[in-house]
Amino acid sequence: MTRVIVVGAGIVGLCVAWHLARGGAAVTVLDRIAPGEGTSAGNAGAISQGSVAPLAMPGVLRQVPGMLLDRKGALTVPARAWPAALPWLWRFVLAARPVEVERIAAGMAQLLDGAEQRHRDILRAEGAEDLLRDEGQLYLYRDAAQLAKDDAAWALRRRHGQRAEVLDRAGIEALEGGIAPAYRIGVFLPEQGHVVNPLRHARVVARGVERMGGTIRRAEVSALLRENGRVTGVRAGGETLRADAVVVAAGAWSARLLRPLGLRVPLAAQRGYHVMIPEPRAMPRRPLVPADRKAFITPMEEGLRVAGTVEIADADAPPSPERAALLLEDLRGVLPAARLDSARPFWMGQRPCLPDTLPVMGEAKAVPGLWCCFGHGHLGLTASAPAGALLARAMLGPPANAGLEPFAVERFG
Ligand SMILES: Cc1cc2nc3c(=O)[nH]c(=O)nc-3n(C[C@H](O)[C@H](O)[C@H](O)COP(=O)(O)OP(=O)(O)OC[C@H]3O[C@@H](n4cnc5c(N)ncnc54)[C@H](O)[C@@H]3O)c2cc1C
Repeated sequence: MTRVIVVGAGIVGLCVAWHLARGGAAVTVLDRIAPGEGTSAGNAGAISQGSVAPLAMPGVLRQVPGMLLDRKGALTVPARAWPAALPWLWRFVLAARPVEVERIAAGMAQLLDGAEQRHRDILRAEGAEDLLRDEGQLYLYRDAAQLAKDDAAWALRRRHGQRAEVLDRAGIEALEGGIAPAYRIGVFLPEQGHVVNPLRHARVVARGVERMGGTIRRAEVSALLRENGRVTGVRAGGETLRADAVVVAAGAWSARLLRPLGLRVPLAAQRGYHVMIPEPRAMPRRPLVPADRKAFITPMEEGLRVAGTVEIADADAPPSPERAALLLEDLRGVLPAARLDSARPFWMGQRPCLPDTLPVMGEAKAVPGLWCCFGHGHLGLTASAPAGALLARAMLGPPANAGLEPFAVERFG
């Protein structure tokens, strides 16, 4: 295989392209916007390779109604989005059965194994290792009852090898100053890191693709070309572009491209927000995660970023400014000394989420030549570098799809 078109220049498509180019393929990446400027620009920067627990854990059916009824809760589904969201939420609840949780955790562990090192490999090759910091992450709990709600997820993570140290209030203070006294218990993850500028990160990977001879073009892909049952290229910007294989890495928009080929994938856009504060006057060393709010507060090179909330809505629906305002409340609740007056206007992005947390990766059995790499959800930054390595290996060396079995598009029937 020599010529490959990658649809989508988010961090996932770029990492796939980087590994394909390094493996000797002639790669063209197509995106309607500049590299990394979609969802990948605005994430919380956390590299969370130990996050193997699925989003839906046993008991989720009891928790979700309470979260939805709480106007300020971390999860929301706008009224107009309910008809589309219901079938997805049903599959999400089914994914919380214990046998499914084990299957998903094993798949996530396989995907995320060595993720930080995979990022480091790319950044080192591109001379940009300064983007990655190794300070760990600190989860914060108000009390033991709150921590107990996450017991099953922490146990699952530990079983898959994650180091997680439980801290008392003195332990929190020894790691980070200025945290609100309401947070009395911490869980410190020393082996997780963070990226200090996700947009610069994506641009560095894009530059690497070009350095190795790949092409990055601005064009909207309107359709995948299929001839004699095989995908042979795309229609983009009024042109027909041919290739030996096409990788769909179009984030939350990927399912739309697959539908005309008869592939139905339950991909939802879980929208999230961030607010960037260039001069917060209170800067933690590492990402802080108030577990009750499910937000990330990450020190970045351009200031402090508070990111989070889950809004299940159509990818193209207008944003909800009130969701972003909640993030500032979250920040104040964790770091009371933080100054918010320099806060920039909010940003919104779409996490591409499958109901069983696992992404879709590999060649579609019914449509040779069509490769998928999307749906990395809440962990798309973390997963991008290992996903790129896995997919390129499967594409460039026989047998196809080796190592990608847990991520098959066919699992949705
Ligand atoms: C608030 C928030 C915080 C997050 N925090 C973290 C975190 O801390 N750690 C982590 O690991 N993950 C995090 N994530 C998740 C992560 O950001 C995403 O999973 C990841 O960015 C998805 O990357 P992607 O390349 O699949 O999608 P995108 O970045 O959305 O890229 C897809 C690209 O495809 C292009 N495209 C789509 N359709 C077409 C078409 N027809 N033609 C041409 N181009 C097309 C789009 O323009 C876009 O550029 C967070 C997400 C959010 C929203």
